[in-house]
Amino acid sequence: MASIKMRAIREGEVPPDGGTALQEDADRPVFNGNGPDDYICVKCDNVLAHAMHPIQMTKKVRVKCGVCSTINVAVEVDGEVPRRPAWPGGRG
Ligand SMILES: [Zn+2]
Repeated sequence: MASIKMRAIREGEVPPDGGTALQEDADRPVFNGNGPDDYICVKCDNVLAHAMHPIQMTKKVRVKCGVCSTINVAVEVDGEVPRRPAWPGGRG
């Protein structure tokens, strides 16, 4: 089983109507699944979601760490790959 580090959500990034799971007990992951990976807090490495499938950990899944109160999200974007800037002097 691998441990995947989540990332901190930016200020204002959480939609007002968005749901954030609060880890009330720092010793117990908020989610328990049967997938291959643990998801851990970006700041303190606390396990927030245990045995999850990557497809379960979308941007809608946010977890507030019970140890350091950091709001974590698993992925950078929801379904969309950001466009890369054109290479200088390269192919358009
Ligand atoms: Zn934490």
